[in-house]
Amino acid sequence: MTGSATTIVRNCHVFDGVQDRPYAGAVAVRDGRILAVGPEAGVRAAAPDSAREVDLGGGYVMAGLLNMHTHLSLSLPGPGGDAVSRMSPHSLALYMASGARRTLHSGVTTVRCVAEKAHAEFALRAAIDAGWTSGPRIFTAGRALVCTGGHGHEGSDTLECDGADAFRRGTRAQISAGADLIKVMISGGIAGEHEAIDTPQLTGDEIAAVIETAHAWGRKVTAHAGPAPIIEQAVRLGLDCVEHGYQLTEPVVKLMAENGTSLVPTLIVTRCKDFFDSLGVPEWMQQRSLGAGERHVESYRLALAAGVELMLGSDMPPFQPTEGTTATVRELEHMAAFGLAPVEALRAATIVPARWLGADEQLGTVEPGKYADLIAMDTDPTQDVSALRSLRWVMKGGEVVRDDRTGLRA
Ligand SMILES: [Zn+2]
Repeated sequence: MTGSATTIVRNCHVFDGVQDRPYAGAVAVRDGRILAVGPEAGVRAAAPDSAREVDLGGGYVMAGLLNMHTHLSLSLPGPGGDAVSRMSPHSLALYMASGARRTLHSGVTTVRCVAEKAHAEFALRAAIDAGWTSGPRIFTAGRALVCTGGHGHEGSDTLECDGADAFRRGTRAQISAGADLIKVMISGGIAGEHEAIDTPQLTGDEIAAVIETAHAWGRKVTAHAGPAPIIEQAVRLGLDCVEHGYQLTEPVVKLMAENGTSLVPTLIVTRCKDFFDSLGVPEWMQQRSLGAGERHVESYRLALAAGVELMLGSDMPPFQPTEGTTATVRELEHMAAFGLAPVEALRAATIVPARWLGADEQLGTVEPGKYADLIAMDTDPTQDVSALRSLRWVMKGGEVVRDDRTGLRA
């Protein structure tokens, strides 16, 4: 091991995610992983004299963000989405690569993709791993499973199945393609013209077939779901995570907490008119989305009060500019504004998702042995998550990929 392979990130406050408060310290990084973290003297002692130094100018450093509800190939109704849907496979892959790069620069070092078109994200993931292009670590569900005509059926980011056998086959097909988890649409949603948010879409035996098959292969299942009765049925069948949860009730959040079912609330999707306008999203969808906002927040508050495990997910592309920041940071601000303490919001964006993904030995906190996926900003995020608006430096696997002081965007 040569000393030049070691970097000391110093002159910073470290929020390590283990303790609740940041402390003045440093992080030593070697071979893409964290070698040591703590007060600077101790970190220096653990690193060779020849180590390179990165001076963060008094900034706050923490683990890179994990965004648990991502679509790099999102196409909502309207002209913006139609342009994505019409792309050739080659264009689509390049478009997604551009989104992946911008995602990484936005401080999101890991994504969980929950429906991408044509399995293109498997090629993207391989390209990122090979160093051909830069992007976050990708965990993916492949294509989301949906009944004929169900939520999102219009595109190649879903796979239509009908009957328990077809849902078993669909589950196995995603795993065979390389899926880390399974996504299933068990109710209607905002973006489907011929359905309502509370339209039931799968039968009980279909939901059970997906969950049983995925679990047998060691994969978790997350479900796009709005209404409480359908969520209750799926949670009783062993569902691992709920996306959106627009219409949760007290008994159902209690059941979720008891069963360890997580919630990715995606609060931003019922309060993002500027995003919809930029894509030319039609009036019927805007009304449905913005009209569901109040009940959506009520659901979120119930889940929070019941102790349901909450995780950050934007649904919108993670880097998407909105209201003066990115969709990821704006979502975290919503989660905090509607009741989650800042330090818990930061955990909902780091270690809690890492644990759900079974990757908490590698990701989610600033601890020795984990990947050196780090972000830095000007002010203290444990006081106010809006500190993430001042994000100006990103490291993935020990390599600096964004530094606003030098203009670097790798
Ligand atoms: Zn989504």
